[in-house]
Amino acid sequence: MHTDKPREACGIFGVCAPGADVARLAYYGLYALQHRGQESAGIAAADGRQIVLHREMGLVAEVFSEERLTELTGYLAIGHVRYSTTGASHPVNAQPLVFYCGEGMLGLAHNGNLSNGYSLRRELLSSGAVFQSTTDSEVLINLIARLNGEHNLPGAIRQCMAKAEGAYAVVLLTEDRIYAVRDPYGFRPLCVGRLTSGWVVASESCALDAVGAKFIRDVAPGEILEVSPEGLRTHSVVTVEHRAHCVFEYIYFARPDSTLDGFNVGRVRREMGRQLAREYCPAADIVVPVPDSGIAAARGFAEASGLRFEEGLMKNRYVGRTFIQPSQRLRDAGVRLKLNPVREAVAGKRVVLVDDSVVRGTTSCKIVRMLRDAGARKVYYCLSSPPIVRSCYYGIDTTNDKELIAAQKSVPEICQYMGADGLHYLSIEGLLRVFGEKAQDLCVACFTGNYPVPVKDTGVGKFGLGRPRALEVVG
Ligand code: SF4
Repeated sequence: MHTDKPREACGIFGVCAPGADVARLAYYGLYALQHRGQESAGIAAADGRQIVLHREMGLVAEVFSEERLTELTGYLAIGHVRYSTTGASHPVNAQPLVFYCGEGMLGLAHNGNLSNGYSLRRELLSSGAVFQSTTDSEVLINLIARLNGEHNLPGAIRQCMAKAEGAYAVVLLTEDRIYAVRDPYGFRPLCVGRLTSGWVVASESCALDAVGAKFIRDVAPGEILEVSPEGLRTHSVVTVEHRAHCVFEYIYFARPDSTLDGFNVGRVRREMGRQLAREYCPAADIVVPVPDSGIAAARGFAEASGLRFEEGLMKNRYVGRTFIQPSQRLRDAGVRLKLNPVREAVAGKRVVLVDDSVVRGTTSCKIVRMLRDAGARKVYYCLSSPPIVRSCYYGIDTTNDKELIAAQKSVPEICQYMGADGLHYLSIEGLLRVFGEKAQDLCVACFTGNYPVPVKDTGVGKFGLGRPRALEVVG
């Protein structure tokens, strides 16, 4: 929808609930995680004897009918939503992946990106492995299946974790249990909740709320958590010297009603807005958010600055994945369909416009122009994140460095390009201050270039299937 933003890779969900309609619970869970991926959706269910799978391109509501859900029987289910790009979509990369291996069936749903995914893939190919998709998620399931020959499943997962580098939050489904696994740095979120008679794991706590589960805790970075009708069992926790939770989950991706690793997303965004106002507060009349992700930060900005909060831009929430992109001539009309200024709110006003982040800057220019056309006297662009200067290799599509406006232009140049009267990015120090002593547990590599896990060989653009880069490696 908002084309000038980083794109989230995936959302995952798992449920173990004997006697309950697990397919329907997974369906609702995925519905709550739809913001994390709109390209494809899938659910795999197990009944103690076999795994049944349904996955397709499309939104959760498009992929699953009443009839489809009825076919997914059992007491265990895992689910996955995958994000959409503007390019072609590929059913081959939809998840969960399900294979026959060793003594039974194994399903996997993955969120994240391995920073050594391509090396591992080559290693597996040279030893005779075959792949049906171009995702690094298949590298993970391949490794686990092979290692399962020598080890029990938790042991095989642990061995796989010793080889895999980078970001992965995973739910694995066997015929009679689920394993929830998070990489040792905890890049991508994963939490666990309790149902009246069962357990749920999900990328975000909003999905626990959606199915009536009570939040218990986050899956610990490096933890292998077994979920079965007997309850929860931690097999091992692989530790590293520090954690690296993706700060962009808080800035933009996650839902404001989710709590990730101890921080409520909405509250964090509000505090980022307050911090932004402490750093830069031009003489202005009103604070206007770029909806929806800028709303909480704009409220924080208004609180700290004393300026009035105004909903000066309206978002059309029904412009979705299937929106036909307008021709060149109608391009501005296309933006207007998604966002429209409230003339009565902004005319004659000096506006502080609060947005969460900017990738290429193209949409920002149009929004500034839109506000001016609606009569705004001044437009000051305020961003509740620092400039994005480096690509992400841990499962977020921030585009390549060359297309990142902040990697190519200085702040005054960007301000001029946007046509704004002023531009301020939240400082990296200001961003970290919001998290207090927990700031050391964050990944901020797209702002600093300090990658917590060395980026060796992700396989970006190397699978040779002529597909857009983002579709080839993210999971
Ligand atoms: Fe998140 Fe940026 Fe780190 Fe990627 S590089 S995991 S987007 S903070």
